[in-house]
Amino acid sequence: MEYIDSHAHLTSEAVFDQIDLILERSQHAGLAAIVNICTDDITLERGLLLAKKCPWIYNTAATTPHDVEKEGELLFPLMEKHARQGDLVAIGETGLDYYYQHADPLMQQHFLRRYLQLALETSLPVVIHCREAFKDLFQILDSDYKINNKHAPGVLHCFTGTVTEAESVLERGWFLSLSGIVTFKKSESLREVAKIVPLDQLLIETDTPYLAPQSKRGSINEPTYLPETAAVIAAIKGISIEELAAATSANARRLFKLQ
Ligand SMILES: [Zn+2]
Repeated sequence: MEYIDSHAHLTSEAVFDQIDLILERSQHAGLAAIVNICTDDITLERGLLLAKKCPWIYNTAATTPHDVEKEGELLFPLMEKHARQGDLVAIGETGLDYYYQHADPLMQQHFLRRYLQLALETSLPVVIHCREAFKDLFQILDSDYKINNKHAPGVLHCFTGTVTEAESVLERGWFLSLSGIVTFKKSESLREVAKIVPLDQLLIETDTPYLAPQSKRGSINEPTYLPETAAVIAAIKGISIEELAAATSANARRLFKLQ
């Protein structure tokens, strides 16, 4: 049985000093691949070196919606360069976050549009972060992110929206990725979302170092904890954990074109 963590910040400050141990534990837990999300110059530089050493680690890059005001302009050329060089399996995470609003919404929209354009030009999928901004998100993606009049590929990562919002994601053909949040006691509505996501559009992720699942809640998350989230989703869907792991791994390989 193999798992693929579709979204982890392995090169972030919180976990990178222990990366060798974390990767060793991940392999023992059955992780066959990890998609490492790079959010600035430092995490990207580390990610590129890591992928050379460990060919089962893959990188994506973009400035997050939280940081676009601070360093979006400064770092865009670097992200663009590595996207065009073929160093990345996706553009992201990009998107909109109106919950925290660490950056002005108009600035977030501006960089989302630029990253979508870059994804189209490089034929890479996008990793999208969206919190309390689905109306604007769908509007921008519907107008700016199409190939031959059809929605271009992507994933809504760490999905925490409603069933209706999930349906809007799914009808556009995008993947929907669930994190450890689905295991939390109060996440009844997210478990309703887990029920309706077709098995061929579902991804799973840890979002390491954030959002450790229920039994590890509050501690620093790592890919090793992905099977707990997988088990909860499998139980909700009434399938075996093997079936869930196989489907979500195949989906991740398809979306990110992993070896
Ligand atoms: Zn993330």
